[in-house]
Amino acid sequence: MANASAVELVVVPCLSDNYAFLVHNGETGQTALIDAPEVAPIALALAERGWTLSDILITHHHDDHIGGVDELRAGARVIGAKADAHRLPPLDLAVADGDTITVCGETTHVMDVSGHTVGHVAYHMPGAGYAFTADSLMALGCGRLFEGTPAQMWHSMQKLRALPENTIICSGHEYTAANARFAASLDPDNPDLMSRIEGIKTARASGHATVPSTLRDEKRTNPFLRADDPEFKIILGMADASDVDVFAHVRTAKDKF
Ligand code: ZN
Ligand code: FE
Repeated sequence: MANASAVELVVVPCLSDNYAFLVHNGETGQTALIDAPEVAPIALALAERGWTLSDILITHHHDDHIGGVDELRAGARVIGAKADAHRLPPLDLAVADGDTITVCGETTHVMDVSGHTVGHVAYHMPGAGYAFTADSLMALGCGRLFEGTPAQMWHSMQKLRALPENTIICSGHEYTAANARFAASLDPDNPDLMSRIEGIKTARASGHATVPSTLRDEKRTNPFLRADDPEFKIILGMADASDVDVFAHVRTAKDKF
């Protein structure tokens, strides 16, 4: 993907519906992996390009994000949340919300985005314009609340929403078609949503990934980013409800959909 920085992004499909990401700096030769759902497709993507991992960034402790870390880590620096160190593979660098680290020569901000789990982090590379959000903000969706509260996840959504609009949202799963059916059930008269759904249908029909997406599109179409939108509240019949209550309502409705 073209951008002003020296790094390129590779999306690696893993397991049945996970995504891992490689960030490579052609000048330094460094390569970072964000999440390691399984070994084989990641090892293949590296071998095809002649790349070696310098860093592995972990977003959260679920097995479909860390299962391949131990086998892939040789020589790489493994980075994850200090808050989750007890349930992650051994970390070479334990990070927390607000930390700034350098990965593949890119300034990288660590953001706590708890909700799906407590301790889930996202990694934002402002120079390259990438945000690795895994199971927090997803394409047209957000992660299920396994550990956190609606208030925590809504807070995380607001933090991610505040990133620059052209940020490329690299989320953890190909759930977009199902997310789209749910979003359409809530907001069928949203023209941005309807045109996005046409694009999603076309992509999936030809086997293409719908991840990454842009924050600009998410802000206009993702119901989990719109819990404070007065028009959206009216559509939901919740004009006087608090933002958190609207978010909780949408999340619960998705779980039952
Ligand atoms: Zn997860
Ligand atoms: Fe996951």
